[in-house]
Amino acid sequence: MITKLVRIDELHMDGPAVEEAGRVLAGGGLVAFPTETVYGLGANGLDEEAAAKIYAAKGRPSDNPLILHITSMEELYPLAEEIPQTAFALAEAFWPGPMTLVFRKTARVPYGVTGGLDTVAVRMPSHPVARAVIRAAGVPIAAPSANASGRPSPTKALHVLEDLDGRVDMVVDGGTVGIGLESTIIDVTGGRPTILRPGYITEEMLASVIGEVALDAAVTGEPGAGVRPRAPGMKYRHYAPRAEMTVFLGSPAQVCAAIEEALQRAAEEGKRAGVLCTEESERFYEAPVKKCAGRRNEPESVARSLYDVLRAFDREQVDCIFSESFEENPLGGAIMNRLLKAAGYRTVTCGGISSSGG
Ligand code: AMP
Ligand code: MG
Repeated sequence: MITKLVRIDELHMDGPAVEEAGRVLAGGGLVAFPTETVYGLGANGLDEEAAAKIYAAKGRPSDNPLILHITSMEELYPLAEEIPQTAFALAEAFWPGPMTLVFRKTARVPYGVTGGLDTVAVRMPSHPVARAVIRAAGVPIAAPSANASGRPSPTKALHVLEDLDGRVDMVVDGGTVGIGLESTIIDVTGGRPTILRPGYITEEMLASVIGEVALDAAVTGEPGAGVRPRAPGMKYRHYAPRAEMTVFLGSPAQVCAAIEEALQRAAEEGKRAGVLCTEESERFYEAPVKKCAGRRNEPESVARSLYDVLRAFDREQVDCIFSESFEENPLGGAIMNRLLKAAGYRTVTCGGISSSGG
């Protein structure tokens, strides 16, 4: 299949490209498009056959459910069996935006989209291009991140082509995305709303609207060890660059010193090492490859460039990556969640306490 690349400008969305993307989706095809979080790989979310193409193109395990994307509350009612008051409050506060809610599904939502679950995840994105494409399709759009399964999520059209060229009908280039991390997922089917995946909408922001929220145990811990994540996708290795990555935990000064030592050892072993650092720390390292993931004192900038940097290490063909860590401030929690997954939970605790590998 030849993948058609079209550019859709945020200021001109009434052109033929949007209509064409809508037609491809309505006809059961695959279209990748930008959202405010990361690029999504879209298909008709009510058509099991179309959804199956997403799993095939990504190489995604079939038990990993898809998020349905809508543009208005009216589109939610046919999908969700029950919409609790907390969900209305959250939707009012954070939709359209980077938040996904998990509901009990209606019979209209095929099991081939929910990985066999009786629940369905729904999000209303704010990105104007995403909204225009979904509206043009006229159906809820299932759209997981538009990367090959296990790879870092795409934040630019180029990343989508790296992974999926020739495997999807169309890629809509709408520029670099604004947030760079996937949506926050909240399960509202049980008693207390529970965060299944951290994201740009933080626990504090959610709590300010609905009071207390719970955190699924799998969000903080390494999967395995008896903890079964309620978002099935959280159990897989994800976001991973090709080289083995180690995250160094500790104060910035301790981390810097430990990475310097690791770089020396790598050089002695003839390994090409890369350092994932920040603009504040870059000048301290002597390394074959250095990549800055934004500015440490501006977590939004780290979120925005993290996946781009992980992919850049692949292009540099490094043998190993040593990464700095980030404070678990509200957004830092989501950043660390992705970074640790990308590293397969391989960490070194600096200051000589302990180390572990995965
Ligand atoms: P992606 O769109 O690639 O970011 O992946 C979607 C994420 O949403 C995965 O981690 C899924 O496990 C999660 N998800 C989708 N539907 C559900 C659901 N019904 N219940 C729990 N998690 C879900
Ligand atoms: Mg994904």
